Amino acid sequence: MFNRTTGVPSPYPDLGVAPFISVPHVYRLYPEFPAYRATMAPYPAPQHSVAPSSAPTKQEKCYNPHDPTLTFVDGEDDLDFLCEGFISRRAKMSCGHAVTPTSLTNWCRRLLDQGRSRFVCGGSGCSAEWTFAEVCKMALLDPQEMEYFQKTMDFNAARQTLTTKLCPGCGFAVTRENGSDLNVLCKVCTAVKGRLFEFCWQCLREWKGARPRKDRCGNRGCCNPSLETLKKCPDIKFRGYDDEYESEYEDEDEFDSGVLVCPSVRACPTCGLLLEHSTMACPSVDCPRCNVTFCFVCLKNSGECLSSCIAAPRQTSIPVWKK
Ligand SMILES: [Zn+2]
Ligand SMILES: [Zn+2]
Ligand SMILES: [Zn+2]
Ligand SMILES: [Zn+2]
Ligand SMILES: [Zn+2]
Repeated sequence: MFNRTTGVPSPYPDLGVAPFISVPHVYRLYPEFPAYRATMAPYPAPQHSVAPSSAPTKQEKCYNPHDPTLTFVDGEDDLDFLCEGFISRRAKMSCGHAVTPTSLTNWCRRLLDQGRSRFVCGGSGCSAEWTFAEVCKMALLDPQEMEYFQKTMDFNAARQTLTTKLCPGCGFAVTRENGSDLNVLCKVCTAVKGRLFEFCWQCLREWKGARPRKDRCGNRGCCNPSLETLKKCPDIKFRGYDDEYESEYEDEDEFDSGVLVCPSVRACPTCGLLLEHSTMACPSVDCPRCNVTFCFVCLKNSGECLSSCIAAPRQTSIPVWKK
């Protein structure tokens, strides 16, 4: 077992978690709703942006040996993958595996850090799912840990909905592996039907036509919602310039006529994230994903359009971020 990113052998069971691929959607710039940000973060955000920091449990937690609601067992701690030798008594989980509060906490924390939103046993040959209530009780989670676990579970679940869709053939969740191809293979359907079964990530119908494609499949009406949004979003108007800039000029009349009209949704010229502007702030925006500042009206980088800002036409493609 090797860690996928570092190549270093990992003592933990490999869960085969696919990398996250963000799909396009619109990010609202103003006003910012904290809840919206948390569930719709446009990019796998660092954990600390949604929940208190996830400091690993340092001090060992121990079961109360007189707790009548626990089933104590002797023997190995089935989740002590780092052989830390926790001193707490071992108790049986619903699946039968023996844990200590700290080994269970560390294991569950690890699942969350990997982007999981469910708690699955890591005991050998076991993939039982535990309820959050069971984890809270058996891991002796304190209120802070409980809050972190709950928030991260919700965040991960929301993020998974962006990378996972239900196959139109079998109804099982399928994760898209190549973000630049709409063609997705369902292994379950392929096995059941005895032939290759591919579906379209965009219109969720059985795939038609050539592949790979990133704009649409051959089915009628299949279209890219992001491009549709760019094409059909309403216009917005910006009036004048921000005070700082205006004050540099004595002749204010020059700017009275400065009404700038542009679409309310733009794709960030650097990274392609769709941003929606409400005109509650000036046209210069900081993209929350790539941090590049650009002018919502002319799409030039910040500072390049001060003297002459001319609205750029509606975008017909989405820039790809070249990192
Ligand atoms: Zn188990
Ligand atoms: Zn299927
Ligand atoms: Zn399609
Ligand atoms: Zn950007
Ligand atoms: Zn501009």
